[in-house]
Amino acid sequence: MKSENFETIAIRTQAERSGHKEHSTAIYLTSSYKFDDAEEMRALFTNEKEGNVYSRYSNPNTSEFIEKMALLEGAEDGFATASGMAAVFTTFGAFLKSGDHVLSSRSVFGSTHQLLNNVFSKWGITYSYADLDKPQDWEALINEKTKMIFVETPSNPGIDIIDLQFLGDLAKKHNVLLVVDNCFATPYLQQPLKFGAHISIHSATKYIDGQGRTLGGIILGSKKLMVDIIAFARHSGPALSPFNAWILSKSLETLAVRMDRHCENALKVATFLENHPKIKTVKYPFLPSHPQYEIAKKQMSQGGGIVTIVVHGGIDGARTFLDGLKMFSISANLADTRSIATHPATSTHNKLTEEQRNEVGIEQGSIRLSIGLEHIDDIIADIEGALS
Ligand SMILES: *Cc1c(COP(=O)(O)O)cnc(C)c1O
Repeated sequence: MKSENFETIAIRTQAERSGHKEHSTAIYLTSSYKFDDAEEMRALFTNEKEGNVYSRYSNPNTSEFIEKMALLEGAEDGFATASGMAAVFTTFGAFLKSGDHVLSSRSVFGSTHQLLNNVFSKWGITYSYADLDKPQDWEALINEKTKMIFVETPSNPGIDIIDLQFLGDLAKKHNVLLVVDNCFATPYLQQPLKFGAHISIHSATKYIDGQGRTLGGIILGSKKLMVDIIAFARHSGPALSPFNAWILSKSLETLAVRMDRHCENALKVATFLENHPKIKTVKYPFLPSHPQYEIAKKQMSQGGGIVTIVVHGGIDGARTFLDGLKMFSISANLADTRSIATHPATSTHNKLTEEQRNEVGIEQGSIRLSIGLEHIDDIIADIEGALS
């Protein structure tokens, strides 16, 4: 049965059954595949016939995961990678050459920063950063060498948002690729390709697995763009393992239900903290006080599971809060069933100077709360306890 509905696609898109008629998809732990005869081998190697050759190229489990994600994101095709960073690296590697320029949002994932600042710059690729809350600055930073706009919205951990339709139109006008890291939203909350993005990237390690146990990533886009991605990936080898693909495909079956609860809990936490005397600021996309609330409402169906707060008292205030938590885990990860608190200034963003951190919306007292799936009363009680 063909369905347009997210939940049904996420559950009922399955790789072909084997002769055992198993109900859930089997795991295909095989590195290679055999050919019926010499002619089939030849045809597969020249792409005259579609099929599995070697698991660095494709595997029934990764194909199932890609097919589901492509349907959910509204993409024609995709390539699954061993981690979110492998997806980012592969996308840059496939489309950029020496002399090209990338315009990126300033507040991108730390390792994406490192790639632009320290790896691709050695290969002659230049970059500029622009702020999500200053869309008026973006167009002037595009030049004749600009090949790609790269953006993360909502951003980590500042929770800033930019209008994807605006960027989609800008990319079209200047004939550049628009690549969106859609990790925080997942396809359940936001589908960038609908707004003119060419490529959507995920760290599947986050909400797609959702239980803090598996690394994975994916790149999604048109069949035409995927030709370059797949050519680069097949030979450079960032492929997702069949076992992790099996886990991630299984996890997608519950993504809608999990995201609904993550978002419901996060909105309750944000609302509770908004007028709390111990809190300086609360950032959550679906709080009307969020500066880009109207844009968030336009392009996201719910606000996501991350709430960023600033406590009084700078680093000391943040440390007191973290050490006062009894249930929340102090960890650098996010998007787990378990609620997690992170202090970006002394962990994920410690390599930036204080000034650079301010530019991406991180204060000394900023704390990123990844709201999990525990009972909401326990989540709020733990935060309240730590604040007092
Ligand atoms: C975690 C994360 C990544 C990197 O993903 P890995 O799976 O850890 O390699 C990239 N972008 C965003 C927004 C992330 O949160």
